[in-house]
Amino acid sequence: MSERSEPEHRQVLVVGAGPGGSTAANRLAEAGMDVLVIERRNTVGNPAQCGECVPVWGEMSDAFPLIKDDAWLNDYWQFPDHVLGQYLDWMRVYTPSMKEYGFGLDCYGAHRLQFDGHLADRAVSNGAEIRTATELRKVQKQKKLNREVYRTNNGSFTADYVIDASGALAHVGRLRGGVERPGVQLPTINAQVSGHDSDSFDIFMGSVAPRGYAWIIPKGEIANVGIGVHYDNLGIPLKQRLDTFCEGLDLTIHSYGGGWIPLGGKVKSAVNDNVLAVGDAAGLVMPSNGGGIGQAIVSGKFAADTIISNLNGGASLSAYDRALTATMGKQLRISRRSKNLFWTFCRNDFTTELAMRLLGTNGLRRAVDCRRPFGII
Ligand SMILES: Cc1cc2nc3c(=O)[nH]c(=O)nc-3n(C[C@H](O)[C@H](O)[C@H](O)COP(=O)(O)OP(=O)(O)OC[C@H]3O[C@@H](n4cnc5c(N)ncnc54)[C@H](O)[C@@H]3O)c2cc1C
Repeated sequence: MSERSEPEHRQVLVVGAGPGGSTAANRLAEAGMDVLVIERRNTVGNPAQCGECVPVWGEMSDAFPLIKDDAWLNDYWQFPDHVLGQYLDWMRVYTPSMKEYGFGLDCYGAHRLQFDGHLADRAVSNGAEIRTATELRKVQKQKKLNREVYRTNNGSFTADYVIDASGALAHVGRLRGGVERPGVQLPTINAQVSGHDSDSFDIFMGSVAPRGYAWIIPKGEIANVGIGVHYDNLGIPLKQRLDTFCEGLDLTIHSYGGGWIPLGGKVKSAVNDNVLAVGDAAGLVMPSNGGGIGQAIVSGKFAADTIISNLNGGASLSAYDRALTATMGKQLRISRRSKNLFWTFCRNDFTTELAMRLLGTNGLRRAVDCRRPFGII
């Protein structure tokens, strides 16, 4: 093998510069480790494939009490104003007949492009390196050399540790093979729109988004509108559904995004050999509300801490998996059960209406918060 083709070796290779990857890179770089993040997009965070609702620290630490005393995360969560579009303190959930249930909320309609850019900049300012337009395309096992080579369109890499922060489709796991990847992927589409004049986070259920939901999340002059639909109900193309929905509300669409949301819950093991999966790649999205930014950040920090400890002769890498389960396992399980109940009962407008009226404000709020909707189940 010529010297030119010898892969570049890094202490930690992070695949993906979303919230999970950038947080992990930041924490590792702060600890003085050599970190390279590869990101396939030309610009981090662009296009935004998200509803852009970011929980405030209080909401996040209420949902996951074990992180309450984590001073690093608390500090990290103080995001600058320019990435936090609009504070949202109210949510309205609409039944198919447009009966409205409202309750308090504590989050931001953020600017995801700027948000992801901010987290990436922070990691770079602490010493991490990010290479954009660099897509992982192949993982080659070189048995004789006892190593795996990560091949991209922009060079090849080996690493002591690898973080799979590549999102819902877990590309590192896919390319390495033999690894459980996040399941139950919900197809979604979203758009940036103008013409919306409400201050609340609105959710619409029923035939507008069969066994899923449509959302409107204000973020200043622009709002984020989207639709996620159960994969069995994809008869009408998602874009057509979204266009019709926006037309009905007299909203002007400026751009589209979209992607997959993994609703199957945490993968059994987020650690495989020297690879730690974070965020969506580990299935950490809340199945009943589709939110995953917060868990991506928390898991990125946990993965970095485990690597640092492992390097210093402390924890084995499997400690990362235990930390995830202890911190988020119960909430993810409850949330997944709510989602399954919803998919079972809400098969048409009639049953959706009935189920939502039965749940009422309290039950709907609990389901959105990933608590047991009926208190006991
Ligand atoms: C339409 C939609 C709406 C959503 N709305 C919300 C919401 O309002 N609030 C919320 O909390 N969550 C929401 N989510 C979920 C949220 O976006 C994710 O949970 C979150 O982004 C996960 O962060 P991550 O870092 O794990 O992955 P991502 O943010 O997905 O980042 C993965 C990164 O890896 C890069 N990448 C992928 N493959 C490769 C490769 N082969 N090589 C190099 N780079 C690669 C990608 O380009 C991307 O930048 C939504 C998701 C979707 C699809």
